[in-house]
Amino acid sequence: MTTVAGEMQQQQQSPSGGPQCIACAARLAPALTCAQGTVLRCPECGLGMLENIPEKAKIFTYYTKFYDEEHSERFHPVLEFAVTLFRLLRVRVVEAFAKGKGRLLDVGFGRPIDLALFAQRGWEVHGTQIVPHTVRVAQQRGLQAFLGELPDAKYPTESFDLITIWHVLEHLQEPGSYLADAHRILKPGGQLLIEVPNFGSPIAQTFGKAWLGLDLPHHLYHFTPQSLTKLLASHGFTVVKTKFFSLEQSPFSALQTLLNALTGQRNVVFEGMKTQGQKRPLLTTLGHVLLALGLAPVALLVSILFGLARQGDIMRFYCVRK
Ligand SMILES: [Zn+2]
Repeated sequence: MTTVAGEMQQQQQSPSGGPQCIACAARLAPALTCAQGTVLRCPECGLGMLENIPEKAKIFTYYTKFYDEEHSERFHPVLEFAVTLFRLLRVRVVEAFAKGKGRLLDVGFGRPIDLALFAQRGWEVHGTQIVPHTVRVAQQRGLQAFLGELPDAKYPTESFDLITIWHVLEHLQEPGSYLADAHRILKPGGQLLIEVPNFGSPIAQTFGKAWLGLDLPHHLYHFTPQSLTKLLASHGFTVVKTKFFSLEQSPFSALQTLLNALTGQRNVVFEGMKTQGQKRPLLTTLGHVLLALGLAPVALLVSILFGLARQGDIMRFYCVRK
């Protein structure tokens, strides 16, 4: 990271003293508290924010262990294969939205699967990421990857046709700074695709601390359709389409949330899927996996129905730069 380590988040203070909503400037109020912290919520637009946003250096330590050092993978091999299939779906989503194959930037690309797929298909693709070994793996595969935060990459003004930000905005100390830079580096009429968890969804609101998408302390902000629309508008973007279902994310999110609520234990299956996840006793994991198999059809149905009702707990915003 090229930003100053240890720099504290400068939270906006409202005249009455509490932190202000980054989308509509209303005063935030406590919504829920768990072991990892308190989430504040905006009474106007529903945006959630972690009360005490950690220092940049601390945040960086969360992600160095997200991906394994050698191959930049996050899950066990069979699951990584499934991730690759899901990334092919992302390519289809992007290409169905794009006006043509041009210059594409993927912000916070994680592992470089998407970058490689787009490069193979004739896009001029760039990516940013804060974890050194994922950038190294991307570069070893001949991909153009910047190590650091988006505003620090200083890409030329009006140089990209399309920018994707998949499940990254909620992890940022200053989401607005990324949207401002995305606006600067997109060509006029350029396209922006963002996917984040939906804090305003019935699943999130009903299950609260058990909701997979809460993911404290990784998720610093929790967007709702209203708050994300406001934030995008204030940075010069028009939302042209929204979707509330992701085959990659929605059914599993509903499933893990149900498991968390029923068992009182958090993310046992999800952690077991990761190469560097929190390990539980084998019998505990096995019990959760069996329960997951039984609940999977319910979770799939619930996520599809909420998606159709535009209330799903994953939301994708298709935007155009004004
Ligand atoms: Zn607000």
